[in-house]
Amino acid sequence: MPGVDSFSLPREWVPDEAWDLVEAVRGWADREVIPVRQQIDEDWEAHELVKPLLKSLCCDLGYQQACWPEQYGGLGIDGVTSCLLLEEMSRADSGLATAASCSIWAMSAVFPPEDNPHIMEHFTPKFLDKERWYVGCVALTEPHSGSDIENVDGTHGRFIRTRATLDGDEWVVNGHKLWPTNSGGVGDVFCTLCTTDPNAGDDGVAIIYVPADTPGVTQSKPYRKAGMNGDANGDIWFENARVPVEFRAHGPGKDAARARAMVTSGNVGTAAQSIGVMKNLYELVKDWCDTRIVAGKPLKEHSITAATLADIVTSIEVSRAETYLKARMLDRPDVYGRRDTPEMLARTRVTKLFVSDQLTKVVNQVMDLMGSYGYARESDVEKHWRDSKIMSLWMGGRALPQLDIARWFFEATEY
Ligand SMILES: Cc1cc2nc3c(=O)[nH]c(=O)nc-3n(C[C@H](O)[C@H](O)[C@H](O)COP(=O)(O)OP(=O)(O)OC[C@H]3O[C@@H](n4cnc5c(N)ncnc54)[C@H](O)[C@@H]3O)c2cc1C
Repeated sequence: MPGVDSFSLPREWVPDEAWDLVEAVRGWADREVIPVRQQIDEDWEAHELVKPLLKSLCCDLGYQQACWPEQYGGLGIDGVTSCLLLEEMSRADSGLATAASCSIWAMSAVFPPEDNPHIMEHFTPKFLDKERWYVGCVALTEPHSGSDIENVDGTHGRFIRTRATLDGDEWVVNGHKLWPTNSGGVGDVFCTLCTTDPNAGDDGVAIIYVPADTPGVTQSKPYRKAGMNGDANGDIWFENARVPVEFRAHGPGKDAARARAMVTSGNVGTAAQSIGVMKNLYELVKDWCDTRIVAGKPLKEHSITAATLADIVTSIEVSRAETYLKARMLDRPDVYGRRDTPEMLARTRVTKLFVSDQLTKVVNQVMDLMGSYGYARESDVEKHWRDSKIMSLWMGGRALPQLDIARWFFEATEY
């Protein structure tokens, strides 16, 4: 019988060892998250429910260790496996998926092969601690703009206001970031995009790791949002926060490339999350259309409904094809080139733009088919509807992906 596992997947790209992990995360989602996911919205500030769920996933189940590089004691799962895990988490709650994956995303700037051994050796025991979920946070967005900071190839760091100054063997960081996933008091270390000189082009862009307990670092309470409450977002202020000189990811030029690589990975991750939500929407609407009797027969037996159902499945099928193609390409730099290039950024911007748009469309189609029941809290569609819109808004909204795509495919230079 067709179900949530019926969507096409290039199975020969999935390593054998991935399936146990996928099953374990599916079990976590089904047993621990789906029964309580409606309560996550009320828990937006205290995270009394959210913290144990994330600890269970990241520590007990070993998600954080699975994503950690093999050279440093992790399993070093590939991008295809990461996407499958993100689908499973997001099928249950995309906010929890965001929090868990962004913790690791924060360290990806120093993952091999371009690792920074000092940073890796310092943070590995913390991130692999089974007793406490140690949390990473990628601090890019600033009060005046998120896009201008993330627009690596359009602005070359000139609008970054968070400043890093070298003083002896320490970086002194001053600035204000806001909105990052795992801020709002949750994060333990901030992967902070700063400038050493806003007029130095890519050479002035610096990625500096600042632990949250560094004197001079403060965080606000979480913001109240429409959804995505498994993730906490707030302000982070850096006032003369001092960290060792080795806590800069790499150095002039390289940090800008790593920032681009992080956006590239984030594009594919966002798409995988979007697919996970769409798969749950498929489950919910399938059940509804099987049992809802309209004009004397099940809703799915009306040809006008069939047109929408086919459209929903087409969105998921094409999104999966696009997402796993790009995940595979990133896993094979020997064939397709490095992920830190404008080319790979543009190719994966297509993925993020297209797939998050499909999600926005599908969630509305499903709600249309479910009528008022879809709009009710208890349906879970309403939760996905509120949680999911941000996936097309973050990382520069819709405009920044469009600019990155046109910039590379059309060799445009003016923006
Ligand atoms: C749940 C959640 C999680 C988040 N996670 C993170 C995170 O982990 N790290 C982080 O740093 N931030 C994070 N953010 C912030 C988010 O990434 C930013 O809000 C987003 O990138 C857009 O920035 P902005 O809101 O400042 O809008 P702006 O950058 O001001 O953009 C406003 C509008 O202008 C458009 N635009 C942008 N550039 C151009 C251009 N050159 N030309 C024309 N139009 C343009 C945009 O598409 C958008 O429509 C998160 C936000 C939320 C709600």
